Amino acid sequence: MILCQFNDNRLGLVENGSVRDVTSALDALPSHRYPYPMGDALIAALPELRARISNAAALAQPTAVSKVDLLSPVANPGKIVAAPVNYKKHLEEVIANPALHHQSKLHTQEIHKTGLFLKATGSMIGPSENVVIQHPDRRTDHEVELAVVIGKRAKSVRHEEALHFVAGYCIGLDISVRGPEERSLRKSLDTYTVLGPWLVTSDEIPDPGNLDLSIAVNGELRQHGNTRDLILSVPGLIEFATSFYTLFPGDILLTGTPEGVAPIQPGDVMHARIEGIGKMVVHVRAA
Ligand code: MN
Repeated sequence: MILCQFNDNRLGLVENGSVRDVTSALDALPSHRYPYPMGDALIAALPELRARISNAAALAQPTAVSKVDLLSPVANPGKIVAAPVNYKKHLEEVIANPALHHQSKLHTQEIHKTGLFLKATGSMIGPSENVVIQHPDRRTDHEVELAVVIGKRAKSVRHEEALHFVAGYCIGLDISVRGPEERSLRKSLDTYTVLGPWLVTSDEIPDPGNLDLSIAVNGELRQHGNTRDLILSVPGLIEFATSFYTLFPGDILLTGTPEGVAPIQPGDVMHARIEGIGKMVVHVRAA
């Protein structure tokens, strides 16, 4: 099942290049009073909602995906956990380039030593919303990454069981200001986390460990990798992350970027693609 959020926070079912409005399925979500439970309500209820979504889709008219404004497929993630330097060749390019490592040990060690970091949820947008460059004097790079959406509460999960905790996958862009500061600052600016174009549920991607991913800027291929080259695989990352954090439904795991990170500037158009998920177009503009 492929689900998107579009236009005015509508829920859509995507099939064959068309989207059907299935927002009425959300009527079945439990209503809560403050304080709200942790996590994204739709992702938490997704297994029970699938039949309603299919029924709503059967009654809806299809609209071409190209005619709608795509938002982040997860509306309310509790946290965005991200893996730094999780592809060997990207680690090598960081070590080789002072503009990427800034003489910081935090930037040049493998993920097991560097650990994970958090991006502010407020940095999240969908592909229709534009990356807005806020410090034009600073180098700002694209990073294309497989994004994992957690489906249920996960704590101290073992590698072998980790994929059972995944609701689905989308494309993630971890837009990053380069510099010596903490990653959580440099990567959490408004609009610097792009998720899209939609959520592909995990049953459609049984093996996230062999997916081609790429990003082109203004038609020029910049990054091209495959998730088989991840240092910590998706199950390994879930095991690692849940040994530190409890993950909740809708939490996002950005799995790291392959080599080829490079600057973007206002006016650029990014085309990102991941095998089994699809592609998305994201524009970069000035503040
Ligand atoms: Mn990254």
